[in-house]
Order: sequence, then structure tokens, then C-alpha cells
Amino acid sequence: VDPPDSLVHALRAARSRTPGRTALAYFDGRLSYAEVDALSDSVAGHLAARGLGHGDRVAILLQNSPHFVLALLGAWKAGAIVVPVNPMYKSGEVTHVLEDADVTALICSDRAWETYLRDTAAGSPVRIVLTACERDLQSRDDARVLNFERLPQAADADDLVAAARAGHEAPEGRDVGPSDIALISYTSGTSGTPKGATNTHGNIMYNAERQRTGLKLPEAPVYFAMAPLFHITGMVCQLVSSLNSGGTLVLAYRFEAGVVLDAFAEHRPHYTVGPSTAFMALAAHPDVTRDHFSSFRSISSGGAPLPPALVEKFRAGFGPYIHNGYGLTECTAPCASVPPDLEAPVDPGSGTLAVGLPGPETVVRIVDDEGREVPFGEQGEIVVSGPQVVPGYWRRPEATAETFPDGELRTGDIGFMDEQGWLYVVDRKKDMINASGFKVWPREVEDVLYAHPAVREAAVVGVPDGYRGETVKAYISLRPGAETDPDALAAWCKERLAAYKYPRQVEILPDLPKTTSGKILRRELRSRP
Ligand code: ATP
Repeated sequence: VDPPDSLVHALRAARSRTPGRTALAYFDGRLSYAEVDALSDSVAGHLAARGLGHGDRVAILLQNSPHFVLALLGAWKAGAIVVPVNPMYKSGEVTHVLEDADVTALICSDRAWETYLRDTAAGSPVRIVLTACERDLQSRDDARVLNFERLPQAADADDLVAAARAGHEAPEGRDVGPSDIALISYTSGTSGTPKGATNTHGNIMYNAERQRTGLKLPEAPVYFAMAPLFHITGMVCQLVSSLNSGGTLVLAYRFEAGVVLDAFAEHRPHYTVGPSTAFMALAAHPDVTRDHFSSFRSISSGGAPLPPALVEKFRAGFGPYIHNGYGLTECTAPCASVPPDLEAPVDPGSGTLAVGLPGPETVVRIVDDEGREVPFGEQGEIVVSGPQVVPGYWRRPEATAETFPDGELRTGDIGFMDEQGWLYVVDRKKDMINASGFKVWPREVEDVLYAHPAVREAAVVGVPDGYRGETVKAYISLRPGAETDPDALAAWCKERLAAYKYPRQVEILPDLPKTTSGKILRRELRSRP
């Protein structure tokens, strides 16, 4: 794998090869490689003219839109470090990120700025603000994505699109290379306070280039951005990967199953990646047909457990086989994946679907509590080293030393490897349920629940129990129109699992709580009354 030094370099190369090719498609609007390069140069020039220095932090708080991409490239061209922020974050969560990353510039929508970010940023290090008009961002039917009549500008913020259109030159001497930090990515926070992982340009381009060469997509591939761009999977496996491949990235603001299906029909994408919950939502949509998926050459699921029953239901219903992939923010999205021409084996003992094979130059080991490697088939903590593993957390030497001893990433996930090198993720170390001393891994119980025809989403947690210490509880959401009840679901599990594993309590909810990147939040369910 021999990646370009940064996405900025890859973009300039793509611009000289194919300047007129569509780089970004947004509803009816399109931007070519030449336009994306020139507009992001101008954003860079604007930021530099406003006093942004090399290595300063630029926070981007936007949904999946061309504006996100121009802001990202503009910041990188100005030599800055980008801090993608989840646009669903509430004020207190944004304050944590702005202060923790010591952010100089903030790029967001004018509505978010007006309604809460102006107050949130007051007292923070933020000095430069660029806003994009919310109406542009949500445009659905209009080709003039970047040409809208502007709303009156929010005082003390400049307009992102005006800056992009101003024709500034990118500043000189701000070139970024493989060892420079590109992103401070805050982890999803499914297990605690988000920490900022420092993904370098080298980390990002390694994974993007590996995907470009591994996926075997056609020349000028069309990617659909199903995962949010602020999350590392969306950023690397969609945005960086498609522009690095000279392809077209189709964007659709945020995940809504009906809008996504329309975009599939219109843009005929070759590839997409999303969390398994996104595939569940697409499969449950009343308008979905096989034809929506007929243009795909490959589909991947990553960042969250993929139940084997979902893979089979999806293939039977719609055609494509969903390829599993395993990764963390700390290894810049995937470190193991199922190659497009292979199918993941299912472990006969536990029924777990393999997450993939480690990539080239990537070493995945399974170790016990003392850090000793365990034999094939035995469970232990997954540790990873390779060109995609970040150098550490932003300004947290203790957390860095703990999670990256000797540069190797301790994932906090329990897994095992078979003799062919397939990696299996059992569950997160912290999510283990201890029922009368018996270990129960929620994933195994969830996989059984997903095989039930009425189940749309399942999450299993441990709840306090006077007799057992902890007992197994399942939260379920049902497929539209499906009928069942808690007792029937508990009985389904009892038939298929050891007595200590089946859920003693089952509760049906209309929807399960999820992060905006689509992961089910067991933490939130655990703290339900
Ligand atoms: P936080 O660290 O703040 O709790 P997070 O760990 O959810 O957030 P991410 O880096 O987005 O943040 O998620 C990585 C985790 O997602 C992995 O450690 C693993 O537990 C889970 N995961 C990723 N891919 C898979 C997969 N294919 N199968 C099972 N679990 C997966």
C-alpha cells in the first residue's frame, strides 16, 4: 500500500487528471473536481487571512453536505487540524470538545450558530466563525446547492459559501504530510466521556488507499455516504476514499431511509458503508425493492456488531451480501474487513459472524489479562498495530500510555481468531454481564433475538438483581406490523441458549436509543428506571 501524502495531494492529482468529473453530488446539485479544488482553496485562503495558523484546530459541525467537504479540505489546505463534531451534540458536549481540543475556528450552520453555538462558543478559544445557510444544507429539489440567495448573515460570523466563492488563493507553506495530525476524532462515547484520537494524514490515507485497491470498484466509482461524515467510518471509508479514487461521493444530509432509497435509485451507487442499524432501517422501509440495490458492487457494515441473521435476511430480500468490517476511531476506521470476493465464516460454537481478516501491514493479536498471546480459538482482548493506529489521544498522556502501550492499541474488545486468521468480536469487555458468576456476552443473546422474524432491533444489558447480582434483560423494537410479546421472545431465547443466558426480562420499545452514527446505546438502556 503506497498512499498519497494527504487527501489534498490526491485531490490535486484528480483535478489535473479529470477536472470536469463530478466529485460531489447532492440531491440535484453537482460539483466537479476542479470546482471542489478551487472552492476549498478559497476557504483555506479565507481562514488564513483571518489569522488561522498552521496546526490550529478547526471544528466542523455539519451534516453530510458539500459544505462539510469544502470546510474539511479548506482547513487542511490551511495546514489546520480538523475536529469533526457530531451535529446532534448538545451545548455541554460541544463545550467539552471546543475546550478539550482548544479550537480556534468553528464551521457550522447559521441556524445552529444562532440558536445555541454563539452562546456555547462564548468564553471558548474560538475566534473565527464560518456559517453555512441551513436552507442550502437541506436543499432537496434545487440544483443551486452553492448558489442560493443568502440569508442575512449572523453577526460575528462569515459566510462559508461566500468565502468559498471569493476566489482567495490557498496560503503558501501550509503543506501537510503523513505524520501531521489531520483529525482529532472524539470517540462515539458509547462507553464514557469522548476522548480525542489524533488521526494523522498517514493513518487516513493508508486506510483510504487500502480500500481503493481492495474494493475493486469500477473506474470513477460512485460512493453513497450513508454513515455520517463526522464519524471516522464516514470520513475515511466514504469521503476520503471516494475522492482518493477519483470517484463521485453522493451526499444526502442525514440518514433517512426513504431519502437514501431515492438517492440509490437516482445515483446508482457502487458502494456504501453504514452501521448495521442503517441496513435494518432500509430493509424495514415500506418502499424498498431489490432494484434499489442492483447497482451495488459491494456493501459494508462497520462500527457496530453485524448479526448473521440480518446478513441472510438482507441477501434473501434484496440481493447483496453485507461485508462485515471491524474498526475503532483509534485505528482510523477499519483494521479488519471481509474482502469483497469472500464471505465471512460463522463460528460453529458461538454462532458469531467473523468481522474480517486483518489488512496488510496490520497485526491483530489476542491477549490475556497479563498481555500474553492466547492460542487460536481462545478468547482475549483484541490488540492492534499497523499504519492506521493513531499515535495517541490529544493531550492525554495517561490515557495514551494506558490504551497504546508500546504503540499497540488495546481495543477493550474481547475476541478470538481462528486458524485461518479470521477475527471474531465477542463483545466489549465492559459490557459483559455477570449473572451468578456466569459470564454472559450480550452479543450472543442479541444474535439469537435477531433471528426472530418479528425483531427489528435488539439490545441486551445486565440489570441489578438481588439474587444473581446481575440478570439478563433484553430491549427490543419490532418490525413494522409484527406481533409478538415479551414472554414469546424470552421463550425463543430459552430454547436456543444455555439457561443462564436467556433474558429473564424482555421489554418492547418503539425504538432503541442510538448514537447519531447509528450504534445502539446499551449504556442508556442500562440506566433506564
Ligand atoms: P467510546 O470509545 O467513546 O465508547 P466507541 O468505542 O463506540 O465510543 P468507535 O470507535 O466508534 O467508538 O467504535 C469502536 C467500537 O465499535 C469497537 O471497539 C467495537 O466494540 C465496535 N465495533 C466496531 N466494528 C464492529 C464489528 N464489525 N462487530 C462488532 N463490534 C464492532
